[in-house]
Amino acid sequence: MTDLLNLTPPALAGIDGPAPAAGGRARPGRTFEVRLPVGLAGDDGVHRDAVIRKMTGREEAILADRKFQRNGGKLVTELLAACTESIGGQPADRAAIRAMTSVDRNYLLIRLRAVTFGSELEARYTCPACGHVELVTEDLDELPVRQADGSMDCEVDLLDGYVDRDGELHTDLRLRLPDGSDEEAVASQMRDNASTGKNALLGRCIVSLGTVPRSRIEAMGSRILADLTLGDRRLIDRALAEAAPGVDLTRNLECPDCGHGYSANLDLSNFLSLA
Ligand SMILES: [Zn+2]
Repeated sequence: MTDLLNLTPPALAGIDGPAPAAGGRARPGRTFEVRLPVGLAGDDGVHRDAVIRKMTGREEAILADRKFQRNGGKLVTELLAACTESIGGQPADRAAIRAMTSVDRNYLLIRLRAVTFGSELEARYTCPACGHVELVTEDLDELPVRQADGSMDCEVDLLDGYVDRDGELHTDLRLRLPDGSDEEAVASQMRDNASTGKNALLGRCIVSLGTVPRSRIEAMGSRILADLTLGDRRLIDRALAEAAPGVDLTRNLECPDCGHGYSANLDLSNFLSLA
């Protein structure tokens, strides 16, 4: 779902989309109840019931606003803060939206798209074997959603590990899920270079690494990630993909031209556009 960190503000052709499909329970008018895969921690527990409303002309203005075009994280915060009426019965302000996990933010974006424009989305996939481009109509209401259970942290046993400046090897890595403030902080790095952007993002999310002191982790952040071998980085990717709750965007396809089977991520780069 890190694709959404690169969310480019789409050019909206207009705001009158097709009638929304039955995703989320409609309440009078334009609001819909949705259940967050992770939820927002409050004083009295985790709140997972949110109410969103359809996008209007005001949100079209947010999408077109130049000051958000340089930072996809801020754009998402602004858009969701505008369209989320409440979380756990409490009004949702920017701070609440920023504190939400990226998993929940991405889920809300997908629901927002579905209730505003309908759940059908034209996706484009390119066969890696022959280059054939296939257009598939995806249904956003049918995407599998994994609900969070228990600990949200992701643990990885690194193979090569991280060697600190005293020569000591650390292999037990624990990561937390990224949230909105992480997205906002790394958005410009992510735009310039997806790899260093990812280092910055995961660097912020290290909860612990062996016995490396907290202060050292905070000071080193992305440099620890940059130091890891490609094999270890792949282990992290795999662990995150397996452990992370939220919408599963992996699609398994078979090329109609050459018969090659492949998997690809559902492309959401301009999924808020009407076209
Ligand atoms: Zn093919």
